Amino acid sequence: MALVLFNTLTGEKEQLRPVHDREVRTYHCGPTVHDFAHVGNFRSSIIYDILRRTLEYAGYHVEQVMNITDIDDKTIKRSQEEGVPLSSLTLRYENYFLADLRHLNIKVPEHLPHATHHIGGMVVIIEKLLRDGFAYKADDGIYFDITKSKGYGTLAGIKLESETQSRISNDEYDKKNVRDFALWKFWTETDGENGFDASFGRGRPGWHIECSAMAMSKLGETIDIHSGGVDLIFPHHTNEIAQSEAVTGKKFVNNWLHIEFLMVDGQKMSKSLGNFITIRNIVERGFSPIAYRYFVLGAHYRTKANFTWEALAGAQTALQRLKDHMGPEVGEEDADYRQQFLECILDDLDMPRALALAWEVAKDQNLSLATRTATLLDFDRVLGLGLKPQKIVEVPDEIKQLVAERTEARQAKNWAKSDELRDKINDLGWVVLDTESGPRISRK
Ligand code: AMP
Ligand code: ZN
Repeated sequence: MALVLFNTLTGEKEQLRPVHDREVRTYHCGPTVHDFAHVGNFRSSIIYDILRRTLEYAGYHVEQVMNITDIDDKTIKRSQEEGVPLSSLTLRYENYFLADLRHLNIKVPEHLPHATHHIGGMVVIIEKLLRDGFAYKADDGIYFDITKSKGYGTLAGIKLESETQSRISNDEYDKKNVRDFALWKFWTETDGENGFDASFGRGRPGWHIECSAMAMSKLGETIDIHSGGVDLIFPHHTNEIAQSEAVTGKKFVNNWLHIEFLMVDGQKMSKSLGNFITIRNIVERGFSPIAYRYFVLGAHYRTKANFTWEALAGAQTALQRLKDHMGPEVGEEDADYRQQFLECILDDLDMPRALALAWEVAKDQNLSLATRTATLLDFDRVLGLGLKPQKIVEVPDEIKQLVAERTEARQAKNWAKSDELRDKINDLGWVVLDTESGPRISRK
């Protein structure tokens, strides 16, 4: 069975056909490290991790790249405001970002290239684009001429013909076309010490060229899957395609995967709107980062997800219940459920269905507890919820006695007494879970 993914470029679900047989090469637009990343950013990182785990589950070898944007207007501005060198500011937020990836059980991609380490590669690309007539020099930088690009805007559904009337000479930027974009911005005083020498003038790269250069340097000229949030379709990914294909003459990316927004009160969660929540905020409120991961899996990546604290609390409770269904022994996985699981995940990463299937397994009394546990552990290779077999623990007689009394109270429908006993059991550090096969006792 092959992975089927929705491809933004064609608007259709397509079967993945890796360029390198059983190896899949993927690139994801990672964080700009000028501040803490918010949980909206992490929705896209979690889905990128799910893509990786799905491919591995299906037997592929995966080469993953997630770039670190450590030079742009925002990073420079912030470092100047704080009066610290750019590299110490970006290193600080990169470290927070990497720590949050670990908290979310995200496998760290094998390549985390930094824009500032790839300036040489960007300069080489820009030189070639200038030589071949795809780029031109203006007063404030080097620009890409979009009229030279074949099929510019296909990814975003933009037709250039209808745009030609809007072609204006923009005094401020001296651009030939409003949509021409900067490959290189010449150094100005506001850049301070942040500049790089190049044959076409001292300056720094534009954001789009950073990703093209890092992607091609790590993965080659044609990449299997490139992902990011839907906000990146235009202009970022559109421009990545234009400049990469201009320089290589080859198709840049076979499959474009875009993750819908995480919303808050009907608006996109974003830094600029000030409606953002970080992993720190989640932990401060007593939630586990994995509860957020569970929440993310509950919505398909191509639909908007609405963040509320109630929804996160619901996810945390559900996650705990799922963990409580794990037994102490690990038997053989159930082949039939495994096949169904594979069908869900290979169908455009259908995590809501995969999660529902995990619950079906957890509740399936036709399977032994050891089989259910093994099957859930197997699913967790993709879900990444940190499911583990329950540790075998000796339950003290006192607790056993209280549980027996509680069972009696429940049989007599004395709910008040049953609740009181449950609280007492909790206070002593134990949890009782009512299952079809009777009460299960575990450590709190
Ligand atoms: P940035 O740090 O703003 O460059 O964004 C890093 C990644 O997070 C990009 O792939 C964005 O598309 C993605 N992203 C930003 N905001 C959201 C959001 N509210 N929901 C989902 N993804 C987002
Ligand atoms: Zn990018």
